[in-house]
Amino acid sequence: MDWQKLETYFRSLDRSFFIGNDMKKHANIDAPLPIGFGQTISQPSLVLEMTRLLEPKNNSKVLEIGTGSGFQTALLAKMSEKVYTVERINELAEEAKKRLETLNFSNIYYKVGDGSIGWQEHAPYDRIMVTAAAGLLPDELVNQLATGGRMVVPIGPQDFQELKLITKTDSGKINTETVAMVRFVELKGRYGWTE
Ligand code: SAM
Repeated sequence: MDWQKLETYFRSLDRSFFIGNDMKKHANIDAPLPIGFGQTISQPSLVLEMTRLLEPKNNSKVLEIGTGSGFQTALLAKMSEKVYTVERINELAEEAKKRLETLNFSNIYYKVGDGSIGWQEHAPYDRIMVTAAAGLLPDELVNQLATGGRMVVPIGPQDFQELKLITKTDSGKINTETVAMVRFVELKGRYGWTE
């Protein structure tokens, strides 16, 4: 991965562009902020750290679960070939799409629905980024990860989770590493918390 490119793009991204007028004055605080519908734009330093962990390459096909504001999506799209992003809340998905089109991204594919079951049609994915927390690792996402692939996903109870790095070896073996403690909103859906 081109670390310098990631760092430079991250620093150039105006976070206030991704949030509502009422929150813009807080845009430079390194903390999650509300984006409506009980959801949040993630803490910027964590978005950067999770992108580093994922190690997208310029030829990577990436699946992102939880488009939210589109801030993380922008970083992923800058660093990889294609991003398939799934959001369950239609209004958030539409706002994010508008923003990302304004930024001239043409390598992002959008879906409204339950991302806990992945996006089978375009699988397998070289990288999977999950930005909402499930109680258990969703099997379908593991199935849709390509061999040699990496997935970053918060797993655990609603109040605190372990941020997991999942890797799939060329022989298909799954390795799991805990890299941090985090707090994310719930991943809702078939392989997440009840709607
Ligand atoms: N990365 C986003 C950003 O930078 O704005 C933050 C995403 S927010 C922490 C998590 C998002 O996951 C919310 O927008 C929420 O609606 C979405 N979400 C929760 N469960 C989902 C599911 N099953 N499928 C798709 N999106 C889901």
